[in-house]
Parts: sequence; C-alpha cells; structure tokens
Amino acid sequence: MTVRVRIAPSPTGNLHIGTARTAVFNWLFAHHHGGKFILRIEDTDLERSRPEYTDNILAGLRWLGLNWDEGPFFQSQRLDLYKTAVQKLLDQGLAYRCYTTSEELEALREAQKARGEAPRYDNRHRNLTPEQEATLQAEGRNFVIRFRIDDDREIVWNDLVRDKMVWRGSDLGGDMVIARASEEGIGQPLYNFVVVVDDIDMQITHVIRGEDHIANTAKQILLYQALGAESPEFAHSPLILNMDGRKLSKRDGVTSISEFQKMGFTAEALVNYMTLLGWSPPDSTQEIFTLEDAAKVFSFERVNKAGAKFDWAKLDWLNSQYIHNMPVDQLTDLLIPYWQEAGYQLEGGRERPWLEQLVTLIGPSMTRLVDAVEMSQIFFRETVEFSDEGSKQLQQEGSSAVLSGVISALESQPQLTDTAAQEIIKQVVKQQNVKKGLVMRSLRVALTGDVHGPDLIQSWLLLNHIGLDKQRLHQAIAAS
Ligand code: GLU
Repeated sequence: MTVRVRIAPSPTGNLHIGTARTAVFNWLFAHHHGGKFILRIEDTDLERSRPEYTDNILAGLRWLGLNWDEGPFFQSQRLDLYKTAVQKLLDQGLAYRCYTTSEELEALREAQKARGEAPRYDNRHRNLTPEQEATLQAEGRNFVIRFRIDDDREIVWNDLVRDKMVWRGSDLGGDMVIARASEEGIGQPLYNFVVVVDDIDMQITHVIRGEDHIANTAKQILLYQALGAESPEFAHSPLILNMDGRKLSKRDGVTSISEFQKMGFTAEALVNYMTLLGWSPPDSTQEIFTLEDAAKVFSFERVNKAGAKFDWAKLDWLNSQYIHNMPVDQLTDLLIPYWQEAGYQLEGGRERPWLEQLVTLIGPSMTRLVDAVEMSQIFFRETVEFSDEGSKQLQQEGSSAVLSGVISALESQPQLTDTAAQEIIKQVVKQQNVKKGLVMRSLRVALTGDVHGPDLIQSWLLLNHIGLDKQRLHQAIAAS
C-alpha cells in the first residue's frame, strides 16, 4: 500500500499556524513512508472563499518547504462528482429530502433547550410518503439533503494518536445535512460529505488533522460505509494552545504564516518549531533538524494527546540558531527585503560586499530577521542621534581632542583597514597621552551615537567605506 495523505485547507483566511502544523505532520508521515502528499483546496464555501487566500496558502506552504506531490485540486471544480454521490445515497434510501424550514428548526432547538437537551434534528422528514412530500413542495418549501444516522449505530476507530475511539450515532445531532438544494435539484454539497467523496476518490490512506475534527470523523466513517468504501486510518493531532492553555486564537496576536514571515522568522526555524508542536523525536534532546531529518524518525507514537503550548521564547531561540548558523550570503539575501521595506538605500557604497560585511557584524546578535532594520540603522542614516549616555561621553574631558586627533590621523589613510584603524587608535592614545578607553568610547559615540553597540573597528570600517565616518567625527566634535 502506498501511503497517500492530504492537507485540505479552506481558503477562507490566510494559511493558519494550525493548518500549517497539520501540513507538517502530513508531510513528515508521507515522506517517512515514501508516500504522496496531496493538496486539496476546500473552496465549497463560496461566500467566504477568496482567491487571495488560496494564493496565500500556496505561497505559505511553498515558503515552509512543504512541497506537495499532487494538486492543488479545487473542490469547486468537482461538483459533478459530489452530486453523483449524493444521488447514489438518495437512490439507496440512505439520504432523503428534508423540508423543515429554518423557523421550524429554530423552534425545535428552543424546545430542546427549554428541556435542557442538546440541540439535534429530530429526523422528522426521514420517512415521508410521496404524498407528504408533494404537499410540502406545494407549500413552496426549500429542501436540504440529509443523511440517515441511526442513533444506535456504534462508530469505532483506532486513532493513531488517541487509540480506541468509540462514538454512537446518537452523539451526532440527528440526520446530517450533506447538500443544499438548487434550482436544478441537488445543490451545494457540504463539508463532511465532500471530504469523504474526495478522500475516497483520491485514495487517501491516512487522514491526519486537528482534534477539532474528531466529531466529523465519526460522521465521516458512516459516510464511507454508505458509499461502500473502506475508511482510511485517522490521526488527530493535538491543538495548539497559548501559554494560558487555551486554544491559540486571533486574540493571541499572530496566527497566520505570512505574519510570522513578516516578523522575521525563517522558514526553516518556523517549520522546525511546528514539528515540535506536539511531536518529539526519539532523541528528545535533539531540537534542531530539517524536515527531511524529522521525516526519517517521524511516527504517531511520539505525538502527544495533550495540547501543544505555543512558546514564543522557544521559537525565538530556534530562529536565532538558524540565523547564527546561516551562511552570510544566504542571510544577506533574506535581509535585503527588510532593508528595502525600511526605505534604506542599498547604493552609494552599500553594495553586496559591504552588505555582507554588515551582515557578518550584526548577524550573531540577531534573533529575528527584522532585527536587522534597527541594528543597522546607524549604517544607513546620514547622521547619528546621541543617546544620553553618548552625549555625556562627549562632554568628558579630552573627548573632543581625541576625536580631532582621529580626524587628522585619518587624513593619511586613503582607505581604512582593520590594522590601520587599530594603528590610529594607538597613535592618538600615545600622542595625547590618554587612556585607550577614552578614545574607544568617544569614537564609538561619534560613529554610532551610543556607548554600546557592535564591534567598533568593524563598524568604523563600514562607515568609512561609505564616507560617513569623518562627517560624524565632526558632528560629534560640534556636539561636545
Ligand atoms: N477544510 C478543513 C479545514 O481546513 C479540512 C479538514 C480535513 O482535513 O478534513 O479544517
């Protein structure tokens, strides 16, 4: 048997972290078994589905490296298949037309509520005679197609994460709607039904999805049986929770993959982190791995039943590890869009070799890619702003003279090198008979505006290359 799994996002929003994590588990399982990972876009909700969300979902999956082997298939293009299947169930008497109006359903729900019962459809139109049906039609009522769910049916499956699951037909809210009506007869089919028709048609062997779908699984198993197909295996992964233990929601801030991307997480770190959301590798001390590495050892035995807490600190840590270990040219490629977005001009000496030098300087202190904007602003702005501590430093006795000394020494250095910069500092210390610390601190404030910051000599070389060091030294003298 070839393993065939699928991810079936609905394009009613951007690619959500929960869907992406489900995609990760599907991808890992497929790759572990040399199987196929299929992408199906569930766009049957015509009102809420948008093409831009589909684009966002596809782009997000690609960005994360969750490449698919077949698809994307669009449910909106497969309506005939679903209608044929609905007709089959109608012909077999396993589904029927229900003419109950929404007012009648509302009244039913109210009555159930008043009796303290859970809301459920009472199957009132299950056995209509042709005459009764004709009367209801004559009243001008619309219908939906309902699938019969007998209360005493027992539904059992062996979940790959949650072990034995037992449901009863009576838990499922009565006969379920599988399609609406249209002018021509059978209209828009609904989620639980199309999923089953598609999963049968696409020969899906394992359905891997979030545990919020467990009740759907119970219903869907009945549909497999009705359609004469064998059920696939099911694996329900734990939900992603916030740090308070509640389901991660929009209120927790970012939830879509494109937002994580904008915030400066690398695809590799994010996908690595999602792998750990509910799964742990056999060597549980191992935290950094690629999707391919994880796929080699992935199994549902190591997927937790309990919800997985989303831990920003851990994600940040993983991200910093990826950034720190990334080759400079690759990191530079990733940072350029952030600088452009910030409006920094990448010209006038700030070309590729210079940018790579800048990346070498700031990379090791970065956690998120976006940090590069703040950390490198002193190299893109014309002038610096002095912090309070910086201004105080410039008021120190000897500071101004030290800076003038540096300016004159620079005259004889057409092109500053690392050694030349060290030499200038030594020279000023000697000539003015001051402590080296004074020179270093004054120089740092003059060049960067602050007493703390990245390596001084490297910063100076970068500024010298774009001709900003002398003017900053003059600016600092004027401020001292
Ligand atoms: N469209 C459903 C969702 O986005 C898919 C559920 C499933 O995998 O069957 O949650």
